[in-house]
Amino acid sequence: MSDALPTTSTSPRHLPERSCVACRRKRPQAEFVRVVRQEGVWAVQAGKRSGRGAYVCSDSPACWQDKKLRRAFGAQAVQVAAQLLEKQNAAQPSQPGSA
Ligand SMILES: [Zn+2]
Repeated sequence: MSDALPTTSTSPRHLPERSCVACRRKRPQAEFVRVVRQEGVWAVQAGKRSGRGAYVCSDSPACWQDKKLRRAFGAQAVQVAAQLLEKQNAAQPSQPGSA
């Protein structure tokens, strides 16, 4: 298979692709946690669609480390990382957290 890549696309489509700000992987939007900046503060938002958004893998703790989030969230990466962990803990209320 040596299909040439399309050198010129007739119409440049702007697909709403989502990619993780930590690992840069492209995935369906349902697999991301959305982080929204409102009034200069980044916060994990559930189902809210206002402000500027960023996406982080919802199932990959490796992507929740503040050092990986820093290039997207800067000094607020620590807070965002903490919220991602909290969100994960909240999703499993019956777990004693002995892991
Ligand atoms: Zn990721």
